[in-house]
Amino acid sequence: MNETLSLSINKVGQSRVNDIDWDNLPFGREFSDHMVEMNYRDGKWQAPEIKAFANINMHPATSAIHYGQSIFEGMKASRQDNGEVVLFRPDMNAKRFAESCERMCMPVVPEEVFVDLVTKLVEIDGAWVPTAEGYSLYIRPFMYASDEFIGIKPSDTYKFLIFTCPVGVYYSKPVNVKIEEFYTRASAGGVGRAKTAGNYAASLYPAKKGNEEGFDQLIWTDGVEHKYIEESGTMNVVFEIDGELVTPAEDSDTILRGITKRSVVQVAKHLGIKVVERKVTVEEVVNALKEGRLTDAFGAGTAATIAPIAKIGFREELFEVPSEPRTSSNKIKKFLNDLKAGKTNDVFNWLVKI
Ligand SMILES: *Cc1c(COP(=O)(O)O)cnc(C)c1O
Repeated sequence: MNETLSLSINKVGQSRVNDIDWDNLPFGREFSDHMVEMNYRDGKWQAPEIKAFANINMHPATSAIHYGQSIFEGMKASRQDNGEVVLFRPDMNAKRFAESCERMCMPVVPEEVFVDLVTKLVEIDGAWVPTAEGYSLYIRPFMYASDEFIGIKPSDTYKFLIFTCPVGVYYSKPVNVKIEEFYTRASAGGVGRAKTAGNYAASLYPAKKGNEEGFDQLIWTDGVEHKYIEESGTMNVVFEIDGELVTPAEDSDTILRGITKRSVVQVAKHLGIKVVERKVTVEEVVNALKEGRLTDAFGAGTAATIAPIAKIGFREELFEVPSEPRTSSNKIKKFLNDLKAGKTNDVFNWLVKI
């Protein structure tokens, strides 16, 4: 830790870890004992603190509530078979957080400070990292504008916080998705690449309409022509067409640069599975579905790692993705799970031991 940012630690007297019903763990509703708080004012970050998880007081004019200068990250700590706890590629989350900061006109949290604070928090709440297979400790770093002022301008003060949640398996079954041709998640020049609060608020209404039609998630298409596939819900998306994995390239600023998707691509290459990143059209996906050449489709994201897609809706049609054999995605998923569990060599040097 940077010496100007000496960390103070105030631990709780009594842990709540034994109050948790580990067999019925809902996603994101149980919170561990501690959180990190670091404030930005007078043009610099102040000394961070680890303290009891608690409510935050807010002035009604807090800038973030009104104008949305608010960003977050999502990452996980897992327990290996030998009991050790590891983080998966935390440097990538730190870098993406910095990019979100810049896009939203917020001060950057230095990468090493971000990773250090995450590491310290997970170390202190180590007892909260579940042991059951498929379970993990979800980590939520976030930052918001804290000026008490209703003028529209970049805030002068910010709060950076991190809390953690023990979580189970995100999706219990494969999801049904609809290719969305009216609503847009992100447009060129916008903020789609940033993990910023408003993107998720904007997705709720179209997702709700999709839910009413029986879909779990939407497949977002480009905002101009609705001709190119971008993402699936809050995950990146990968298809298997003609025996090859294809996924939308991240060259536009409308696609969130997922760490899971990046890892899936690297693991696929490592395992000798053909994978291409390029523009993916709605038309080719629909044609491949019609002609039986689409053999797999899945979302990739931290919460679920790999979330198989069961059905894809397009206009009035509903296509089924074969549930078997999904050989490539199963191999990739196994590789990633084994890696986190410590059952396979960390050939990419992705794990950080706590
Ligand atoms: C977080 C997120 C993803 C997945 O990113 P990971 O780093 O893999 O968790 C994909 N799309 C959106 C919109 C996201 O917010």
